[in-house]
Amino acid sequence: MSAVTDPVPVFQRMAVIGLGLIGGSLAAAVRRGRLAETVVACDRRYEDAVLGQQLGVIDEAAQSIAEAVSGADLVVVAVPVRATESVLEQIKPHLSAHAVLTDVGSTKASFVAAVEAVFGELGPNIIPGHPIAGSEKSGVTASNPDLFAHHKVILTPAESADPDKLAKLTRLWEGCDATVLTMSVAYHDEVLAATSHLPHLIAFSLVDTLAGEDQNMDIFRYAAGGFRDFTRIAASDPVMWHDIFLSNREAVLRVIDHFSRDLDQLRTAIADQDSTTLLKVFSRAKAAREHFSKMLSGQAYVTDMSQNQVTFHLKPGGRMTGDIRVPGDKSISHRSIMLGALADGVTEVNGFLEGEDSLATLQAFRDMGVTIEGPDSGHVRIHGVGIDGLQAPRGPLYLGNSGTAMRLFTGLLAAQPFDSELTGDESLSKRPMGRVADPLRAMGAVIETGEAGRPPLKIRGGQSLTGIRYEMPVASAQVKSCLLLAGLYAEGATSVTEPAPTRDHTERMLEGFGYHVHRSGATASVSGGGRLTATAIDVPADISSAAFFLVAASIAQDSDLTLRHVGMNPTRVGVINILRLMGADIEIANERDIGGEPVADLRVRSANLKGIDIPEDQVPLAIDEFPVLFIAAACAEGETILRGAEELRVKESDRIQVMADGLAAIGVQTTVTPDGIVITGGQTMVGGTVDSHGDHRIAMSFAVASLRAEGEIEVTDCANVATSFPGFVELAQSTGIQIVAEGI
Ligand code: NAP
Repeated sequence: MSAVTDPVPVFQRMAVIGLGLIGGSLAAAVRRGRLAETVVACDRRYEDAVLGQQLGVIDEAAQSIAEAVSGADLVVVAVPVRATESVLEQIKPHLSAHAVLTDVGSTKASFVAAVEAVFGELGPNIIPGHPIAGSEKSGVTASNPDLFAHHKVILTPAESADPDKLAKLTRLWEGCDATVLTMSVAYHDEVLAATSHLPHLIAFSLVDTLAGEDQNMDIFRYAAGGFRDFTRIAASDPVMWHDIFLSNREAVLRVIDHFSRDLDQLRTAIADQDSTTLLKVFSRAKAAREHFSKMLSGQAYVTDMSQNQVTFHLKPGGRMTGDIRVPGDKSISHRSIMLGALADGVTEVNGFLEGEDSLATLQAFRDMGVTIEGPDSGHVRIHGVGIDGLQAPRGPLYLGNSGTAMRLFTGLLAAQPFDSELTGDESLSKRPMGRVADPLRAMGAVIETGEAGRPPLKIRGGQSLTGIRYEMPVASAQVKSCLLLAGLYAEGATSVTEPAPTRDHTERMLEGFGYHVHRSGATASVSGGGRLTATAIDVPADISSAAFFLVAASIAQDSDLTLRHVGMNPTRVGVINILRLMGADIEIANERDIGGEPVADLRVRSANLKGIDIPEDQVPLAIDEFPVLFIAAACAEGETILRGAEELRVKESDRIQVMADGLAAIGVQTTVTPDGIVITGGQTMVGGTVDSHGDHRIAMSFAVASLRAEGEIEVTDCANVATSFPGFVELAQSTGIQIVAEGI
């Protein structure tokens, strides 16, 4: 049996000066976590320190600052910010040369100024701090050891800060279950002025205004929840806030001016009945709010709803009819934002799909000064700033879970005149970025990655890039697009050669925005120094979403279904080619070009499909569509053989095995091979329960299978369908699939 050992304390003696809400909560958390051997505190009122000891918040109550600080290796100043300087004066004579001195004050420039006034400089052991946690309560009785759990603590160390001391202080806060961030003093004060100080000011002012109105009794009696939530912070401690506003005066005044100007603008819009301005401002605010809440909760942009159990129940049989348009293509939606932002003029986008990549990108461009209206029912208006018009973001750009956005942005930002940093959620932070950083460095970019080439990426601006000829070791549309975007800014030509065809949406869309891309065989190149011109983009319907309906109408009896405005990019049409080889009746009409992308209307009628040996050159062009093609194969006459599809085994799931298991569950036997599958068509689909393993394409494929099943099919773990294909269930119902989704 192994003995349970107490953790080694980070500090020996922590002295807290000012035992109120924050000082008391920190003391309590440190004591509970045994992060310091002894916790001593001193307060203006000795009784409060004694009370703290009685409450178990601290070990010792000191009579004076001198007594508390003597022998301490950590001193935490937790008094209202305006009291800091006088407290520091009392600390100074007793502070050990090796002790770490920190604070918890809500403004940081004021703490640094007080330190400089007392100590002459911010020495290496003095590290300002600010926990972004609190409440409107105050005093030691409000101490709560859980106050900082799952909250952020900002440290604002000087360049000269002792790294060991910084690491110890970080460990202390992390031991209180907080997440520690570091930033500059000035940036901290700007950010807090906007996110905390201004809202408090507005709450104080609003409550004061309303309390002065004649009907104030009624106002407070009938106040709805929103008012109560919004004004809760007006109950915060007046002294503390008085101090904060006076200590962060400049930054607060700047943000008050912005706010007053915007409030005036809204006043004018209401007076003039200017609906456009009101709707524009409100929709922009709503989008920003959604972005911030994701950011604050550290979530991806598009919430992974896999916790919500969604099950599809499918009745057997049915025929497919109708005239439909499936949602817009994700990759094209995403790139329309990027190129629209860099173009001269206003780009109007319709049929925009709000995917992870697009939303992350949209917000990042807003952070770099681009005005983007929407998305509003698929409509987005991007006020392009021109190829050289991006502004330095004020902080790291957060890209949620979007690997595509991060890789493409790295190329774009490597060429900007300003420094930038790219971060993402936990899963994105584990993904390797060396594949883009290495060739960009060869172009002259300066990029610092986290451990093992992972995010965060710190990109140094102001570099002049030179074009390169790059042979990609692994086929990747993201790497290719990243280098081409960097190439727009590079001296000379940048060319990328791919070992196997990958999606070419970036190349096509650049052409759509009037930027020439030279293409020859497997190589695409751009020459730097050109400009992009805004355009209108009606995002083509996603062929990967259309694929389910192409197969459905092919296998169901008496079907006749039209799919409008489907993207027909040659790197994506494998599903049509393969279905046609199997004998599908797909008529292509009304072919046209949208922003560089070919588009067509497709009419599909029932057909007797035949099994085929799928040509290997079609495999990369249909890689996402195989799950539903397996259903087509199961309904075809004879044997269908897929080879050369190893990639499918490492997708969201091992798609080949999961499909084989699903087919077996409904009565269809298959043979899985190392790089594909053999499916003998014509077996009876008796029905049964299929686990989609959260893979949206597998879930939708079995919904299609129900058209030819003889018994009911139930598909579990289908929540992700709603994010990849919004409205799938309704569209499937309206065209003839007998589907009910349970658990939404
Ligand atoms: P609090 O509950 O009022 O605690 C402050 C404590 O410091 C009180 O016990 C106060 O004593 C004592 N104090 C005041 N002047 C002192 C002096 N000269 N010497 C010794 N003790 C003194 O306030 P708090 O909310 O903990 O705030 C403390 C600091 O944390 C402030 O700088 C604030 O900006 C920062 N902060 C607050 C929050 C929040 O939400 N509350 C969040 C983050 C950071 P008296 O009771 O006798 O005045």
